[in-house]
Amino acid sequence: MKNIFIIGIGLIGGSMALDIKKLYPDSKVYGIDVNEEHLDHALHLKLIDKKGQMEELANADVVVLSIPVDASLEIIDKVLENISDNTLVIDVGSTKQIFCQSISNHSKRRNLLATHPIAGTEHSGPNAAIQGLFKNKTNIICEVEKTAFKLQEKALKLFNELGMRIRYMNPESHDKHIAYVSHLSHISSFMLGKTVIEKEKNERDIFDMAGSGFESTVRLAKSSPEMWTPIFRQNKENVLETLHEYIENLNRFKSLMEDDDFDAIYNEMKNTNRIKQILKGIE
Ligand code: NAP
Repeated sequence: MKNIFIIGIGLIGGSMALDIKKLYPDSKVYGIDVNEEHLDHALHLKLIDKKGQMEELANADVVVLSIPVDASLEIIDKVLENISDNTLVIDVGSTKQIFCQSISNHSKRRNLLATHPIAGTEHSGPNAAIQGLFKNKTNIICEVEKTAFKLQEKALKLFNELGMRIRYMNPESHDKHIAYVSHLSHISSFMLGKTVIEKEKNERDIFDMAGSGFESTVRLAKSSPEMWTPIFRQNKENVLETLHEYIENLNRFKSLMEDDDFDAIYNEMKNTNRIKQILKGIE
């Protein structure tokens, strides 16, 4: 791997760049980004070696597409049109169904691998890039059969070197499942943050009383609305379904409180403690 182009040099693209530079010290990493400050910062942080241009993508061995999911839909045609026949394009967007549909008939479809690395933090931009972010994390790959075999091999070698585990899924299942474990968690955290902020107008009190429980539950509410709004838009149907079920559970909890049915509340929590074993199993 000689020439790597990262489109969107933020948390995911920047972290990928750091690991690739460590794995392949002789490679040249180019950054393409709409945000000139981010590009300058990425150069300063040595995430990238040079600023790149879309017109140079023909020289790329690998292109990582790591921009918000609505922006990916807008530029993917241009990316595929500019690459060479041997270029591997790795998309890392958090929704897969609409994206995969949008490229299904593209003549360069076989150059693209649709992935979703289940790795990240609530921070964004090049400053948020972390070396080793992907180690021991799962990478979901969708429609692997639609990617040229040689390019699949190239990608799998890289993911293996990054320390990732692979799960294969179709885009529909990916979007359905991820709505529960990722999209709903973010909405729940955003709305918990909103509820507390609205109640406690004096923010100093929140800060003084915030224990680690509140802090960890509300952590995701620091996430970028620029990234999350298009994710919710693209996965609207699945997210609405999870919200419906979640609100039913909240309402049930409320009814039990109103009825002083604390035995049932105890049982609700006891049953949910199973999450300890479930999460241990996937660590
Ligand atoms: P990020 O830190 O905000 O980085 C995205 C970068 O792309 C920013 O510098 C942004 O500039 C730039 N950008 C936006 N539109 C662009 C365009 N049309 N062309 C070129 N650059 C553009 O975002 P991220 O967290 O790395 O997320 C990137 C992708 O990874 C998203 O698709 C997301 O769904 C996916 N993902 C994220 C996570 C996570 O936990 N964060 C995990 C897995 C996958 P501006 O800031 O000026 O807009």
